[in-house]
Amino acid sequence: MATEGPARRRIQVAEHPRLLKLKEIFNSKFGSIPKFYVRAPGRVNIIEQDMLIAVEPVKTHTLQLANTNPLYPDFSTSANNIQIDRTNPLWHNYFLCGFKGIQEHFGLSNLTGMNCLVDGNIPPSSGLSSSSALVCCAGLVTLTVLGMNLSKVELAEICAKSERYIGTEGGGMDQSISFLAEEGTAKLIEFSPLRATDVKLPSGAVFVIANSCVEMNKAATSHFNVRVMECRLAAKLLAKYKSLQWDKVLRLEEVQTELGISLEEMLLVTEDALHSEPYSPEEICKCLGISLEELRTQILSPNTQDVLIFKLYQRAKHVYSEAARVLQFKKICEEAPDNIVQLLGELMNQSHKSCRDMYECSCPELDQLVDICRKFGAPGSRLTGAGWGGCTVSIVPADKLPSFLANVQEAYYQRSNRSLAPEKQSLFVTKPGGGALVFLEA
Ligand code: ADP
Ligand code: MG
Repeated sequence: MATEGPARRRIQVAEHPRLLKLKEIFNSKFGSIPKFYVRAPGRVNIIEQDMLIAVEPVKTHTLQLANTNPLYPDFSTSANNIQIDRTNPLWHNYFLCGFKGIQEHFGLSNLTGMNCLVDGNIPPSSGLSSSSALVCCAGLVTLTVLGMNLSKVELAEICAKSERYIGTEGGGMDQSISFLAEEGTAKLIEFSPLRATDVKLPSGAVFVIANSCVEMNKAATSHFNVRVMECRLAAKLLAKYKSLQWDKVLRLEEVQTELGISLEEMLLVTEDALHSEPYSPEEICKCLGISLEELRTQILSPNTQDVLIFKLYQRAKHVYSEAARVLQFKKICEEAPDNIVQLLGELMNQSHKSCRDMYECSCPELDQLVDICRKFGAPGSRLTGAGWGGCTVSIVPADKLPSFLANVQEAYYQRSNRSLAPEKQSLFVTKPGGGALVFLEA
């Protein structure tokens, strides 16, 4: 239901090793015990790994953050003066995004303090959205401390918006699935209005995540935001070409909705309206009938001011064709033909090709890993998440799983001396898990 909030579950902490460990570390850190716990999952669109936070509201106005992983140092700040540092996106800034998002939503200026201990097992900067899991978890922590209620959809929208305080112009997919996920079913996420539809995955196959071990922090690099800007510019040029009011248009999907045509038709419009040679800022200005000054001040973001070439045709082609593949994937799942695994795999392969050649968000290691996965029995394999490193997801027939895992392990990880520490969870089967929720000790 659209109005439903995240679940609250009473549990015996002693029966859950990870929560028990968190409770003990919390106690040695803050000298007290947590009042409640919140978990929020990452994504592959299929989820298991999560972010877990133990929380104790306190009377002072101090927010104290600690992490079970010594790589992430303690942090403390006044709850009334939240500063998010975009120039150096240290871990606590992601927590502050969720915290600030909820605070602002309710128009609160005076927040109560809290002690929080964070424990995450999502491989970071690997396309499984550890960042959004942390933002969403912090948002739900803050909501719970305030004693307020919001629906999962509202929470997803607030957290999608507030993660942008870190400087990444993300959509809202990661935050949506973190709240709206349900155990046992994949979800198709659609926007305006935000909604999630069940997609039944084939029973004879599993999805395997493999980490390329190339990390890419999305807030510390500009690739991601350059792609967002290229899509925005492509949307404006397409809107102008079709005589729509282009200045308000921000997303490619809006052009399609405005025109009321299918994705396939939108791909034809893209062929007519855009050329495959890269656009210079000057040419974009000419197409839109604006000055360079207007382009810089009214359209380009701070970190895309100096970009000299924009590949508008390629980015638009990728986005519309990828959206079409998502719908085809759902349709194939519904029809469940005999060769379903083969067909879904083929779509995933097309998707990787488009990411690599048209969106240019792959990297040599990802391309190599995808090839290895296909060679050892995956009918389909692709990068997942933002790209430029991180993980692949492969569809593997269930009976081929043991040999697939052994062979990929050998071919990608052992042969190249890449670190395969168990905590990196570099190669694992994933199933659709549940969304964010609150645990209270029984
Ligand atoms: P992802 O693809 O995982 O979302 P991002 O580059 O967007 O990658 O975000 C990664 C950042 O999220 C890390 O650099 C770190 O600041 C934060 N992060 C991830 N996992 C944790 C964790 N367990 N504890 C604290 N911060 C984390
Ligand atoms: Mg992220």
